[in-house]
Amino acid sequence: MPPTRQKPIVAIDGPAGSGKSTVAKLVARAAGLQFVSSGAFYRAVALLAVRGGIIATDEVALVGLADSLHLRFTTDADGTVRAWLDEDDVTDALRDPSVEQMASKIAIIPDMRAHLVRKLREYGRDGGLVMEGRDIQTVVFPDAEVKVYLTASDEERARRRWEELRAGGEAVSFASVLAEVKTRDARDSGRDAAPLRAAPDAVCINTDGRAITQVVDAVLALFPA
Ligand code: C5P
Repeated sequence: MPPTRQKPIVAIDGPAGSGKSTVAKLVARAAGLQFVSSGAFYRAVALLAVRGGIIATDEVALVGLADSLHLRFTTDADGTVRAWLDEDDVTDALRDPSVEQMASKIAIIPDMRAHLVRKLREYGRDGGLVMEGRDIQTVVFPDAEVKVYLTASDEERARRRWEELRAGGEAVSFASVLAEVKTRDARDSGRDAAPLRAAPDAVCINTDGRAITQVVDAVLALFPA
């Protein structure tokens, strides 16, 4: 562990629906580390853009939004993490499918990403966190003590997303969710700037048909002694 870090950094990446958010939260709780969703930062910029009528190709405006972004998190008594932009609770707004698609469209802009990477690294200055996203084990914390890449089949990932949306009251078809998952995958993996991929030294775990507790245990087993 670098001398500046008292506690490890756990970097977990993977495509939409691979289980990274659920696994990262449980690993953080089990290990007493802070949980950070890097996707929330990309979604927050997207939300501000949608609200401000800024289109996905307006790079100057989007870079400005990322530079001045002040996203903060609080944790409820029941463990629910809430995201805030100033005094505005944006937890639910960040999950909106239109914000999600906008996030993956704007995530191709290198200068915008650079601002968010800088903000994400500030969180990890002293270690002690589990961060999940698309480029955490490759770009944000390539020297993380634990590096994990989660995968699952397209259908399994779409099914998880579909159930999540339906539980939230969204009336969407499975076919449309599967199509959206594939579109987002293609954008996230095909872009030039920090494409989604496993780092050569990451441990890859396929979560198809595995209980979440098994995956969490597999990640915890990778912690330095
Ligand atoms: O992980 P989440 O679904 O919240 O991410 C939303 C979008 O933000 C992703 O589809 C991706 O395009 C982008 N993102 C990214 N790099 C990250 C986290 C998210 O490009 N580290």
